[in-house]
Amino acid sequence: MKICRYNDNRLGIVEKGQVKDVTNVLTLLPALRWPLEHGDHFVRNLPGLLPAIKDLASRADTASLSIADVHLLSPVANPGKIIAAPLNYSLHVAEGSDPAINQGVHMPDFEGFATPIDKFGLFLKSQTGLVGPGDGIELHFPNRRNDHEVELAVVIGKRGKRIARAEALGHVAGYCIGLDMTVRGPEDRSFRKSADSYSVLGPWLVTADEITDPDDLDFHLSVNGLTRQRSNTRELICDVPDLIARASRVYELYPGDVIMTGTPEGVGAVEGGDRVHAWFETIGEMEVLVR
Ligand code: MN
Repeated sequence: MKICRYNDNRLGIVEKGQVKDVTNVLTLLPALRWPLEHGDHFVRNLPGLLPAIKDLASRADTASLSIADVHLLSPVANPGKIIAAPLNYSLHVAEGSDPAINQGVHMPDFEGFATPIDKFGLFLKSQTGLVGPGDGIELHFPNRRNDHEVELAVVIGKRGKRIARAEALGHVAGYCIGLDMTVRGPEDRSFRKSADSYSVLGPWLVTADEITDPDDLDFHLSVNGLTRQRSNTRELICDVPDLIARASRVYELYPGDVIMTGTPEGVGAVEGGDRVHAWFETIGEMEVLVR
């Protein structure tokens, strides 16, 4: 099932290029009481809502709109955290030796460690910097190099600490396309990748049952129609179960937490007016305007 959030926080199911409005199921969400639990209220309750969502979507009188006519928001409204992997594709590690990318500070060398992530760990991006494809990317450093990074984004569905690799995929609610926008420079990653709109999640959440192997998905990204990045998630150095296991040893994972799994080679600059198009096998595609 492909679940989207669109327009003024409506909830939809995407089928054959159409969005079916299932917003009414949100009335079934339990009432909130302060202090709120960590994580996203909708994702936490999604398993219980699925029968009602399916029922509503199957009704012939359910209103529907063309995908092209809706404003797509981030499918996760309130992620507790956005965890991200640096340097997780070998050819991106290799291109990281370019001074225009590493700025003389973020050297990709990981000699003495099994993987770059064993050396550099994971990092966090601001959860309030997250937008959907319809919102677009607002450049915050117009005189510097702002790069696209297309990544498989994993949305956690079930809370967990120290999750074993074998159990990891059972904690996944679904998958999205993620854009980990980045300004190149000497600052810490959490600064350079957390500006408002520098995390894009979309076009919708594909529930985990539709993707049996997240570590074998083709994907690509183009800017103004020219391909910049093209890879398959089988090229991940630390694969999806490994990333979930590693992250959950440091941070308890909550429903709605997002893991951006890392970007392949081909990162490059975007400028105001650019149209970024990203496609992932089984997930879908999205276009994001830079301004
Ligand atoms: Mn990245």
